[in-house]
Amino acid sequence: MHTGATNYYDGKWQPSLSGKTLDSINPANSDRVLGTYARSETADVEAAAQSAANAYHSWRLTPAPKRGTVIFRMGQLLEAHKEQLAQQMTAEMGKVIVEARGDVQEAIDMAYYIAAFGRMPNGHIAPSEREDIFCMAQRVPVGVVGLITPWNFPIAIPSWKMFPALIAGNTIVFKPAEDTPGLAVSFVELLIEAGIPSGVVNLVTGNGNEAGAALVESKSVSTISFTGSTEVGRHIASRCGQMMKRVSCELGGKNAIVVLDDANLELAIKGALWSAFGTAGQRCTAASRVIVQRGVKKRFTVELVERTRALKLGSGADASIEIGPVVNQAQLLRIDRYVEIGKTEGAQVLTGGSILKDGDLAKGYFYAPTVFDSMEIGMRIAQEEIFGPVTGIIEVESLEEALSAANSTAYGLSLSLYTRDVNNAFRAMRDLEAGIVYINLPTSGAEIQLPFGGMKQTGNGHREAGIMAMDYCTEWKSIYVNFSDSEELVRAQIDTIG
Ligand code: NAD
Repeated sequence: MHTGATNYYDGKWQPSLSGKTLDSINPANSDRVLGTYARSETADVEAAAQSAANAYHSWRLTPAPKRGTVIFRMGQLLEAHKEQLAQQMTAEMGKVIVEARGDVQEAIDMAYYIAAFGRMPNGHIAPSEREDIFCMAQRVPVGVVGLITPWNFPIAIPSWKMFPALIAGNTIVFKPAEDTPGLAVSFVELLIEAGIPSGVVNLVTGNGNEAGAALVESKSVSTISFTGSTEVGRHIASRCGQMMKRVSCELGGKNAIVVLDDANLELAIKGALWSAFGTAGQRCTAASRVIVQRGVKKRFTVELVERTRALKLGSGADASIEIGPVVNQAQLLRIDRYVEIGKTEGAQVLTGGSILKDGDLAKGYFYAPTVFDSMEIGMRIAQEEIFGPVTGIIEVESLEEALSAANSTAYGLSLSLYTRDVNNAFRAMRDLEAGIVYINLPTSGAEIQLPFGGMKQTGNGHREAGIMAMDYCTEWKSIYVNFSDSEELVRAQIDTIG
């Protein structure tokens, strides 16, 4: 429908100024090209940023409840198009249809939640130390916000970033991942239908090192919100630091599930399967480590391996399929390299460990769900994010050893503990070093009304979702008003105290 002309700025769909394009491929069958999209460069990004800058003044002055109405309508449209978007998502990035519906639902929840912020307090009033002075602090927008997003939650993550920025009065330039341009186009089409004014949301599709880098560098963009790999995040954060640009980074994870001897074992096995292999392990909250106490290690391992072997792989469009493909060839080869590294480090493959090439899977990017035994905390496979259907079992003696193993990586996104003992649970809640802690729940499963994000190298201290979602896209303005009509100057800290 938009073949090639898939950038959107100044209220119009436009091709890249160079005429260059990129294709979007179905990862379950790489022969299927789903669409051709603009491959944007600096000139396209600058045009989109200028469009956003031009629209900023009037959007900033649009009453917040009115901005909320557009976001509310977007929620309704996402609901009406949920199935269509979910099917498009399964085709474009491979996650199974039930998970794709969940991804869209997250955006719907976020839209309704944030729409209401249009009528919520957006600051606070404090007493003054001086007579007849009124003081308040108010959140104000930051200007043009650049969004750079990954492919693994192609509707949910843009909505986490975009709706808070819009309700605050900012305008947007959105650069989605190169693997999911089609979903970004569909998302923006719905925003237009919801009534977003021209220039308020602008889209540039293209590669990270071209369009993404140009967005980071653009002088018209005051803030960058990035979700993606730690490597790219570190580079973006340092560029933004040099330019004194605001930047929020949501990066990688090396999450773990801890299973103690007193755990509900059936629940823990189900949690480990979902955390390790949901979205083919391509969730930032995926559990690529399972830390198991010695007393239940054997039973847990036998069950986990048996159920992993039984998982059904294929195109996620078929509702009976449990694991879809990984997103692209580069990702497939990277996962395979990590499995080889694990083997040379001395971990033992109990099941999986190979690229799948048989029958219907031959044309797609499928990796056999893999369980390592004898994983040790110092190994690279226990420290580095693999981002595929691979997990490993680490055996421990005690709660203390388990918590220390769980905390032993540079990341701090999501950690979980299975126990029936309230003392163990509270010690874990206190001592686990992660932005999200679960007790008797898997490492994936965040709800949008709570902050989402990680400690340590998972980010730079920001959170998405929850009321904290407003922090990255607003500044605080403190305002003092003298209503005394007196001719006397009264200075703070000088004329008031003592
Ligand atoms: P990625 O870092 O390769 O790409 C993310 C985005 O950055 C894409 O839009 C890409 O085009 C862009 N990009 C790449 N190089 C760039 C550059 N030099 N300048 C500007 N932009 C650039 O990550 P990915 O493979 O798309 O996503 C997977 C990663 O995302 C994993 O590490 C995962 O843990 C992480 N992730 C984190 C969260 C979180 O909230 N913490 C959520 C989802 C995914």
